Amino acid sequence: MSELKNKIIQALIDQKNIFGDELLENITRKTKMEKSFQDAKSLDELNKMICNCTNCVLGDTRTKFVFGTGNPEAEVVVIGEGPGSEEDQQGVPFVGRAGQLLTDILKAIKFERDEVYICNIVKCRPPGNRNPLPDEVSECIPYLHKQIELIKPKMILCVGLVAANSLFNKKESLANYRGNVLEFRGIKTMVTYHPAALLRNPNWKRGCWEDVKKFRSLFDELKSN
Ligand code: SF4
Repeated sequence: MSELKNKIIQALIDQKNIFGDELLENITRKTKMEKSFQDAKSLDELNKMICNCTNCVLGDTRTKFVFGTGNPEAEVVVIGEGPGSEEDQQGVPFVGRAGQLLTDILKAIKFERDEVYICNIVKCRPPGNRNPLPDEVSECIPYLHKQIELIKPKMILCVGLVAANSLFNKKESLANYRGNVLEFRGIKTMVTYHPAALLRNPNWKRGCWEDVKKFRSLFDELKSN
């Protein structure tokens, strides 16, 4: 036991010699922020608490932090993977061509963009539009969980495989998600294609249309109960 204790003490001394107090300061700052953001009472408050986050490397390369946009009391939350180039510039999720397509998809099932809430799994842009890495997702996803807790939506629409696998912490294929009604923390959730994928492969639009029609029917059913 005392050997283990000595090893731990030596490891701490080594870390201090290498990193100085910086490592300890970073851990303390992060722990304080984690505690405080859980106390946020509104999305605005949460945004203010986390907008300077640098808990993962994406915080070093972002232009703007992309919190989310829309109705703070939305009945529907749309979740994507992470900001792209235009989102990073503007600080708003789903702008540009993919964003316009998402707006059109929502409109086709009778949701206005500002009626729903739109956000991403990670709040900072992965360089070169790569997928967020598992440690980046695990650092950032508590913020999304808190957003969902504050909004209390009736339904979640997850767009894209990365968003779905991150939300459910699984490694499934998109085909295994699509068409199914899942539950995330008691909230009915469906998964469809990411609008950027639909721009690359317009043949998938028909499948997306089937998915979102089902989403709307289920939403109407929930509302009528
Ligand atoms: S991606 Fe999330 S965890 Fe990483 S720096 Fe940005 S806000 Fe923080």
